[in-house]
Amino acid sequence: MKSITTLDLQYAHRFYGFKGEAQYLHGHTGKLTIEVEDTINKGVNMVFPCNEIKKTAWNILQNFDHALILREDDPLLPAILAVYEEQGIKNGHPQNCMKGEAFHTELARAYPDCRLVVTKETMTVEGMIKIVYDLLKDKLNISKLTFTSGANAASEEYDVRKSMDRCPMCGIALDENGTCPKCGYKK
Ligand SMILES: [Zn+2]
Ligand SMILES: [Zn+2]
Repeated sequence: MKSITTLDLQYAHRFYGFKGEAQYLHGHTGKLTIEVEDTINKGVNMVFPCNEIKKTAWNILQNFDHALILREDDPLLPAILAVYEEQGIKNGHPQNCMKGEAFHTELARAYPDCRLVVTKETMTVEGMIKIVYDLLKDKLNISKLTFTSGANAASEEYDVRKSMDRCPMCGIALDENGTCPKCGYKK
């Protein structure tokens, strides 16, 4: 069975070098759907609490929200960083508090202090699915990701081979010691 959750990400990007309108900087509200597959946890009669899927994903993915996403070789990158620097907002600002956990993978690197994500590949909907799976695959049993942005949509399905130990009282994943980080239940 699956538990499914959806979250919105508002971002600006462009397809650097693309022959079309998308080579100009523009924005979207992207919708990400995360499907998590496992056995039914009998204690709570659910696969995984959807608000917990959302919390786990949002902790990292809020780096993409109200953010600028640029490819590493895009010349806009140094230009924008120079403006942020001059304005004194490159290394953070007191009103920039919706910051996610900084990450650095092979595909993307987040700079939460200036709400920027630098990607290795062009950030198409397909590119976003690759980045998101890489960031969340060890935290959630993801069986499918769907990302839609404007008229574009893509999805990918994954094999889920392992079952996660979950708390029978509140449904969330147990830590490496078999303890529930929320209610303290021990396996
Ligand atoms: Zn776009
Ligand atoms: Zn618990």
